[in-house]
Amino acid sequence: MRFPACCLAWALLILVQVASGGDSDLFAAQPLPGLSTVTHTFRLADEKVWVHIYESASPGLTFVSLHDDENTATEAAKRYIQQHGGRLVELRHGRGRNVAIRRDGRLSWFDPNRMFTKVGLGKSLERFQSLTETNLILAYHFGQEVAGLAGIERDRFIVAVHNNTEGKLTIHDYQKGELYGANTQEVYTNPRHDPDDYFYVTSPGLFSALAQLRYNVALMEPEPSIDTGSLAYFSKLQGAHYVLVEAQHDHDQEQLQMLESLGLLLGGGLPGGN
Ligand SMILES: [Zn+2]
Repeated sequence: MRFPACCLAWALLILVQVASGGDSDLFAAQPLPGLSTVTHTFRLADEKVWVHIYESASPGLTFVSLHDDENTATEAAKRYIQQHGGRLVELRHGRGRNVAIRRDGRLSWFDPNRMFTKVGLGKSLERFQSLTETNLILAYHFGQEVAGLAGIERDRFIVAVHNNTEGKLTIHDYQKGELYGANTQEVYTNPRHDPDDYFYVTSPGLFSALAQLRYNVALMEPEPSIDTGSLAYFSKLQGAHYVLVEAQHDHDQEQLQMLESLGLLLGGGLPGGN
């Protein structure tokens, strides 16, 4: 019977409080002019993870930062919403890229950008030798809470911001036969841009518009074959429009400019709809 097992694990994931303080101070939200902040505190067994929501009084795009060590991306998103409106959902825990489940001092790990489906999450936990039924349910429910806070809904745009290290992940990894090629329909590359700085989108209209602006950009397959559990894959399943704005660490000007271009396109309506 699924219900009691699910509830038992679910009880371990407690939405503790809103607007927390105390021992979350180390990873507390930054006070930023023009933005309100709300913090949601989650427990993954003994581990705490904070989800900060920065929001402008002006409406606009929702940005998501899943990897705690990708600070160029979050700074660019904060600056963008200060100037243009919108909100940012940011995960904090101080452990770097991946999220830990801590139990009796032992750590299990998963990539928070693989936590949005059970299949993808299972693969991520397995990669870190952390796959147990309890970890899977706990991390999956955490992922669903984050997706709920971000508002992954049909026809809504969601903008994920990430950073990479020089040459480690590039637009070329989206070509057929490469790491993310199987789920990618089309790639436009501009050799005048650093291949570490690129967009990845689910909307054909946005793909065309960004390619016309000569940005590196990849378009997801309409029916991606590999369930990665990523926010991109989950957004596609939900019928939301996902946009990844990926830039090399310290490419703060480039990333902010990419956000500005995206905001202009989405604010002005896209040629050809979606
Ligand atoms: Zn990332």
